[in-house]
Amino acid sequence: MGFSHIAWERAAAAVAARAVREVPFYRERHARGLGVAPVPAAELERRLWALCPLSRPYSAQREPTLWTGDPADLAAVLRISGLGWPVVEVRSALVPWTRLGLLGPRYAPVLSGSAIAVDVSTTDGPAKALAASGVSVLVSPPDDVADVVARIGHRGPVVRSLVKADQPDGHAVLHDRHLGYFAEWSTDCAQWHVPWRRFHVDAGEGGILVTALRRRRPTLVRVLVDVGLGRVAECPAHGTPVLLA
Ligand SMILES: [Zn+2]
Repeated sequence: MGFSHIAWERAAAAVAARAVREVPFYRERHARGLGVAPVPAAELERRLWALCPLSRPYSAQREPTLWTGDPADLAAVLRISGLGWPVVEVRSALVPWTRLGLLGPRYAPVLSGSAIAVDVSTTDGPAKALAASGVSVLVSPPDDVADVVARIGHRGPVVRSLVKADQPDGHAVLHDRHLGYFAEWSTDCAQWHVPWRRFHVDAGEGGILVTALRRRRPTLVRVLVDVGLGRVAECPAHGTPVLLA
């Protein structure tokens, strides 16, 4: 199905209503009269337990942090660029994923040179194997690109992972440490495209408000992020939501 603005707004409203019904963090805010007012990202810190539904609470004993992100989100942003697969992603901690989502593209994580590890290169094996294809896509913060490309012998395209939307001169994605990947720079139309099936975005005071439409663990509703963009519009070329300065 194509993009419908009304359906998109409805989906976001449904997620917000469900959050107020079943997620402690939003119930509490609602009780304080805040409704679904913007949530500054700093308020999410150390409150993982309060961001999961009451029926399935977060358990630090049985599951790792939920801030590792959803592999399907990375696949969704990369689909916008149509660069192809497999995907190698630079991270500060490893994840046990070999695919992005259940039937998603092949994937390997690789540690950033600044990660906490005795020798980051000892875990390069899976990423090197994918890089050997010569077509793998590397997703990396700008500062890590040179080091990782040399370490794993990467020869395919590079997608820079940014926390602030500068004017990219090539492929780039926007990343927030709580929300994960929620926009990709389309080199086609030179706009920041949002994977609208997975995220809703709205203009906010001092940033944009992002709602994760598919995730419930953690539930993320109207999280305020300052990425240097403040408006939401529809791309004239693609007819889907884009973020503007
Ligand atoms: Zn576009």
